[in-house]
Amino acid sequence: MIVLSIYSCLGFRYHNFAFDMLEGRYAVVTGAGRGIGRQISLSLAGAGSRVALLDVDEGALSGTANRVQGCGVPVLIYKVDVSVYQQVKEVFEEIHRAWGRIDILVNNAGILRDNLIPRLGQEDWDRVLDVNLKGVFNCIKAVSRYMLRERYGRIINISSVSGIKGNPGQASYSASKAGVIALTKTAAKEFASRGITVNAIAPGFIMTEMLSGMDEKVRERITASIPLGRLGEPKDVANLVLFLSSEDAGYITGETIVIDGGVSL
Ligand code: NAD
Repeated sequence: MIVLSIYSCLGFRYHNFAFDMLEGRYAVVTGAGRGIGRQISLSLAGAGSRVALLDVDEGALSGTANRVQGCGVPVLIYKVDVSVYQQVKEVFEEIHRAWGRIDILVNNAGILRDNLIPRLGQEDWDRVLDVNLKGVFNCIKAVSRYMLRERYGRIINISSVSGIKGNPGQASYSASKAGVIALTKTAAKEFASRGITVNAIAPGFIMTEMLSGMDEKVRERITASIPLGRLGEPKDVANLVLFLSSEDAGYITGETIVIDGGVSL
């Protein structure tokens, strides 16, 4: 029940005054198997966009695909590791062959391998940077040839407040997410003259499986520190993705927008 209400696209259609605002658009979402990526996929579909779902986790992907199809929108699914450029390139070629265009890219796939710096292993550092930063670069590079040709595009990268403020125990994660912000600004400058906007979203604490291991006491302490008095939900992020994906957001580029219930104020 809870899962259905959190991930509902129909609910979105009822509540959103512009439910067809992405009609005729074609979107790719990475890390679409669960959490924020799943909700972003459902919200895009709920707003009328076709969606291609990318993730390393095949089982999770089909869970999202079933729900997206429930929105009456055709869906493409691809098992792909965003850190491997060859895989990414081939998948974007396939999507483009199927659709003839790609309008929206949401770089959402991300991982955590937290540890304090003295204990943080080289492998964990490398993997986090490979997925969270190189993965974003790989997807932007792969999609750029199609968007540049169309002279239109919306690229939205999911960063984190950790990438702005840093966070003890998150050296690799924070560095990767800070890199995503710099990459966002650079891509925004490179592509602006071709009608492509590139923006980042920096969420605070959003309730997903990524945080499921969190101790109950820690969760209570965090919640108490949030001015708006609650942890975020995937929909809080997906709603902004929808706006940034729309034509109405066409004069916003290179920005990083924080969604953290007021913690950073
Ligand atoms: P999650 O762990 O619930 O989901 C991440 C998804 O990415 C999973 O389906 C996973 O299989 C997929 N993935 C992992 N590695 C991949 C790879 N190499 N290639 C393709 N897919 C891969 O995470 P979430 O909480 O939904 O977070 C989504 C994004 O939001 C991440 O980038 C995360 O860093 C960011 N974020 C989350 C929070 C939060 O509090 N949950 C806060 C700030 C930022």
